[in-house]
Order: sequence, then C-alpha cells, then structure tokens
Amino acid sequence: MQTVPLSINGELITSSTGQWLDVTNPADNSVIARVPCATADELDHAVRSAASAFSQWRHVPVTERARVMMRYQALLKAHQQEIAELLSQETGKTYEDAMGDVWRGIEVVEQAMNIPSLMMGETAENVARGIDTFSFTQPLGVCVGITPFNFPAMIPLWMFPLAVACGNTFVLKPSEQDPLTPMKLAQLFEKAGAPPGVLNVVHGGKEQVDRLLHSPEVKAVSFVGSVPVGRAIYQTATANMKRAQCFAGAKNHSVIMPDANKEHVLNNLVGASVGAAGQRCMAISVAVFVGESEHWIPELADRISQIKPGLWNDQKAGFGPLISPAAKQRVLSLIESGKQQGARCLVDGSEVTVAGYENGNWIGPTVFTGVTSDMDIYQQEIFGPVLSCMSVRDLDEALALVNRNPYGNGTSIFTSSGSAARKYQSEVEVGQVGVNVPIPVPLPFFSFTGWKNSFFGDLHAYGKQAVRFYTETKTVTSRWLENDIPGAPNMTISID
Ligand code: NAD
Repeated sequence: MQTVPLSINGELITSSTGQWLDVTNPADNSVIARVPCATADELDHAVRSAASAFSQWRHVPVTERARVMMRYQALLKAHQQEIAELLSQETGKTYEDAMGDVWRGIEVVEQAMNIPSLMMGETAENVARGIDTFSFTQPLGVCVGITPFNFPAMIPLWMFPLAVACGNTFVLKPSEQDPLTPMKLAQLFEKAGAPPGVLNVVHGGKEQVDRLLHSPEVKAVSFVGSVPVGRAIYQTATANMKRAQCFAGAKNHSVIMPDANKEHVLNNLVGASVGAAGQRCMAISVAVFVGESEHWIPELADRISQIKPGLWNDQKAGFGPLISPAAKQRVLSLIESGKQQGARCLVDGSEVTVAGYENGNWIGPTVFTGVTSDMDIYQQEIFGPVLSCMSVRDLDEALALVNRNPYGNGTSIFTSSGSAARKYQSEVEVGQVGVNVPIPVPLPFFSFTGWKNSFFGDLHAYGKQAVRFYTETKTVTSRWLENDIPGAPNMTISID
C-alpha cells in the first residue's frame, strides 16, 4: 500500500503519526494510498523550514524567481497528461476535466512568470523640494495554503506559485481526500529549481490546520473549501493577526431571458450544471427562467437526462462519481428532501449506477422544476449533479431572487438584450458575472472575485490582487543633499 509522504525542506519524510486516512478511488471505493495526519512536531518542522528558507529566498533576484516559474510551467506542460491521469484516479474526474484542472493551474504559473512587472511599485520625484518618494513591495514570510478536494491541481496552483514568485515561502496542506496530485506538483516545483524549504507539503485535517493557524511564524493564510470551514479559518487566522483570504461555497444562478438564443442556452446549461458531477464551485445549480423561457425546461431536462456518468477513461462518460460515500449520501438526502418538499423531479439520478462499479459513489443527472426559495435544495449547496429550475415573471424578480441568496460566487445571464445584460451585471450582488457565458471563471490576469458568503477577506486569488495579498508595501521618502556628492561645491546657504 502506497503511503503519502510529507515534503519538508526538500525531503520526502514518512510521518511518524499513528493516525492515517485512506485515499480512495471514488469509482469503486478501493483504497489506493494512505495519507498521514502529521504530528505537531512535523508541522512545526515544516513551518521552521519555510521560515529558514525565507531568509535566503527573499533575497533571490525577482528575475531568477521568474525563471523558476518559467521552468515550472514547462515541466507542468510536459507532465500534464501524467498529472491528469493521477488526478482522475483519485478524484474520479473524466480525463478531459482532469486535463482542464491542470491547464487552469498552468495558466496561473504563466501569470507568476510576469512577477517582475507585477511587483513594481510607484515613484514620485520632488514631493517636496529635493525630496523623492518611492514604494516597493516586499514578501511577507511564511504563507500557508489549505485546499479542497475538487480541483487538486488548479487550486494549489492558485496559491503557491504566486506566493513564492513574490519571495515568500509556503506550507501547503492539501485535501486529505486527494493528496497525490499536489505531491506531484510539489515534486515538479523542486525540479524546476525551488530550493529546499521554499515549498513544504503537510497532510491532515482540522487538528493540523489549527496548529498552522496558531503558528507565530505564519504570516498569511489562503483557504478554499466549504462555508463553515472558511468562516472558522478566517476568524482564527485573523484573531491570530494573520492575513487571510478564504474562498468558500456557492449557489450559482443562471438567468434565462425569453429573448436568449435557446440552442445556446440549452447547450451551455447541460455542461455547466452536471459537468464534473456538479462538484465545481462555479457550477450552475439554479436556472432561473424568466417569463416564456420556462417552456424550454422539458427540453433541457431531456438533454440533461442523456448525460451518463462513467469511469475517468470512458470517453462517453459525461462526468465521474462523487468524491466519497458521505458526499453521495448528502446529495441523495437533498434529492429526497426536494421530492418531499414539493419540487417536481423531472430527471432522477438517485438510482443510477455504472455496471461493474456498483460500489462507486455514482449519482446520475437530476433536474427539479417548481423549486421555491424555502426548499432545502435551494438553500443548501448540493455539490452534486443536480439542477434546480425556478420561474419568475421578469428581470427585476430574477435580480431580487439572486440578490437575496447569501452566496455570491458566480452568476450568468443569457439574453440578446444589451440593456438587460447591462442592468444585470450592474445590479447583481455577485462577484463574477457571465453574459451569454455560463461559468465566468476569470483568467489569471484578472482575479477570482467571489462575494458575500462565498468569500471572506478582501484581496482575492491570483491576478494583481494575489500579488498585493502576498506582499507588503514599503514607502521610502528620501532626500540627498547636493553637497553629499564628493567634490561638489558646498551649496548650503547661510542666512546671517
Ligand atoms: P472542506 O471545507 O471540507 O475542506 C477544505 C479543506 O479544509 C481541506 O483541506 C480540509 O482538510 C480542511 N478542513 C476540513 N475541515 C476543517 C476544519 N474543521 N478546520 C480546518 N480545516 C478543515 O471542503 P471540500 O469538501 O474539500 O471542498 C468542497 C467545497 O469547496 C465546496 O463548498 C465548494 O463550493 C468549495 N469550493 C470553493 C471554491 C471557491 O473558489 N469559492 C473553489 C473550490 C471549491
């Protein structure tokens, strides 16, 4: 049985813990590896290694740090297929989805290659007579990243490449459910030239995270995961005087205006709702049909019903299994609650399975209509292949519905009216808006900007905001008297 090592100070270490967790293949729940819950000493060792590496790494020229990112980008591209296969096996994602997971991470590394210009400060000459002011940015020190199961390549890559490019060192605590992919990312990072201690990887759950959040040497914490955990981590990290950015759960609405292009809407909603088994923080989980567009619901349900779950290497599979039996159980009980609370289940995936893999965490595509905002399937994040359809009279009613929802990660509107789109993008209280685009995940030269309960903090992931999150600004005001120049005449004016 493969045991997952810790990666500390450039060495792969077998944990001395007595607490181990199973890493499973979600397609049949067979155990593929065991991951340790690191001991307190091991966690402290990782933080100390990062702190010690910081004293050197912070002085490495920014151009050399950028070159590490260039080599890393090339290595990730060369190993993209190998990483995607590993990722598929521990998450159950289809190979195509897994390739996308890695690719979106590579794009963030490409952003980190631009670090010399991203870190540049500001200058002003003669802010007073003979006085100049300039600012530059400096790294913070040891940064920590805590990541979820659903994007084991992309989300760690949202964090450590930019943090390290800024001159920080990093301790990553990936999801205990799929730690093999992040370990592979860390191995390639060292191969790209990151010195020992610059990136460390530790494993475990709440207890391990708590130790990191209480470590005085940790200066900043990046988290992605569920709302209750994100809120708790934000509170603990900031109470311990650390910078924190916590990206949390979602309930993303898509508003379908009656003037939208029907074919475009239906094509896009199918993939955006049940793709990746709905285990995406930007999945469309609520379709809000405005006026006459509600007549498209039966055709949408019919198309969604044709999508089949399957194994990661089955090219006909639309998506894979859920990550764990517990996740499957949670989704099944929400589907049941939808039926009990009066929604109409047009497509029911609760009994769907995959032949030969009956032990896997399968749920088929599921579509509800007649959903109202008091139902559990509307109020809770389902994180499964379940789409809730709602009907409203007009755009104002759609806006009011979306704005009352406590989440604010992403939303989209489908329409052929510029003024409807403009009103929606301006008035909706959600941080990422798609117009005739279902999943508006910004590319890494922008930032990932969830709002409300989907994000706790102020500076967001990747893009310019991440560089500000991982750096501190220093402002220097300087005056050099002319008579400081050797051989210059004494310019001091004496007033008698
Ligand atoms: P999770 O909150 O259960 O776990 C996330 C991380 O926190 C893991 O590393 C886990 O080990 C750790 N953790 C779990 N419980 C903890 C606790 N009590 N204290 C400290 N750490 C703890 O999330 P998950 O199930 O792995 O991921 C799914 C969730 O992530 C969904 O809610 C999804 O919407 C969200 N997500 C959000 C975004 C975003 O950008 N907003 C992106 C991806 C996923």
